[in-house]
Amino acid sequence: MNLVNYHNHTYMCGHAEGTPEEYINVAIKKGISEFGFSDHAPLPEYLREGITMSPLETETYINMVAELTKKYASQITIRTGFEVDFPSFNSFDLKYLKDERIDFIIGSCHFISQYNMDIVSGMSTSKLSEDEWAFDNPYTISEFDKHDVDDLYHVYYTIIFEAVNSRMFDIIGHFDLMKKFGHRPKKDFKYIIQKIAQNMSKYDIAAEINTSGLLKPVKEMYPSEEIINIFFDNNVPITLGSDSHSPETVGYAFDKAVNMIKKIGYTKISGFAKRKRYDVNL
Ligand SMILES: [Zn+2]
Ligand SMILES: [Zn+2]
Repeated sequence: MNLVNYHNHTYMCGHAEGTPEEYINVAIKKGISEFGFSDHAPLPEYLREGITMSPLETETYINMVAELTKKYASQITIRTGFEVDFPSFNSFDLKYLKDERIDFIIGSCHFISQYNMDIVSGMSTSKLSEDEWAFDNPYTISEFDKHDVDDLYHVYYTIIFEAVNSRMFDIIGHFDLMKKFGHRPKKDFKYIIQKIAQNMSKYDIAAEINTSGLLKPVKEMYPSEEIINIFFDNNVPITLGSDSHSPETVGYAFDKAVNMIKKIGYTKISGFAKRKRYDVNL
């Protein structure tokens, strides 16, 4: 069986542990054939502390991964990527989207802004406490209590839809991250998820099956089995990622993930080179 792992961080973001080589060695031990580094792309200075590298460190990161790619070439395929925030901030130079050295870009939404709230539905609910709310940050979890969870999901999926339609990304990260702390929508969001899935398929954008959610309060992979079924029905390609911020979690629960996607009907996962997606037989 071929396993890939396209979501892994490094110490350069400021909230991950261990050396990149330790991550690679765990991947080799676990029989993973393709390993992608996808560290957080630079955020603006006011949001960056302990979350991402700075724009000046981008080249250091790319060169570090390139060196490791060479060093481990006989044992494992290593790919260079970034996890980029959407809506995008101007702190990540978009020239990297067309850079030959970059194999893949994950698009993820970790922030909801007051602007997003205002334009999506003109909601009457209270304003956000801060302009950019990192809704996956446990320190700001109390913000959830001030809003209708359905409104938050509505804003979130609207952002994901726009991320797909921007065609900036090869992979959409942790598709239903809004559930991280166990906040569930009351409304059914199947309609918008189907619309997103149709466009992912049309634009050949993969969804990642991200096992890190199992270690979070929600104790569930991102996305849910129900959403992966929608992806399968709409021919959305998928890939695997453990979203590791420490070497021990590299490839965490991949057996569980593979069982689930096989049960749903998937026989292939995706790999990425120079921003081209290709199929890998499971
Ligand atoms: Zn992170
Ligand atoms: Zn993320």
